[in-house]
Amino acid sequence: MADQATDNYDREFSLNLASDSQKLIYAIDEALGRINEKNYGRCLKCNKEISRKRLHAIPYAILCIDCQRKEEGKRKTS
Ligand SMILES: [Zn+2]
Repeated sequence: MADQATDNYDREFSLNLASDSQKLIYAIDEALGRINEKNYGRCLKCNKEISRKRLHAIPYAILCIDCQRKEEGKRKTS
């Protein structure tokens, strides 16, 4: 149940990002930098590992699903 929700969310999120190519390029750059720093796959905020499933959907994800949701929530209210 939770996994299904995560899947849908990831898909929506990647579509949103794809519509903003500038952001996408930045995000990929960031992810590549993190591979070099050996931080790839770790959440930038809470330092937890980002789920494999999420990384599969969004290889350039820099936040875990929980932190990403919080960020999205912030953006909507501000
Ligand atoms: Zn996190």
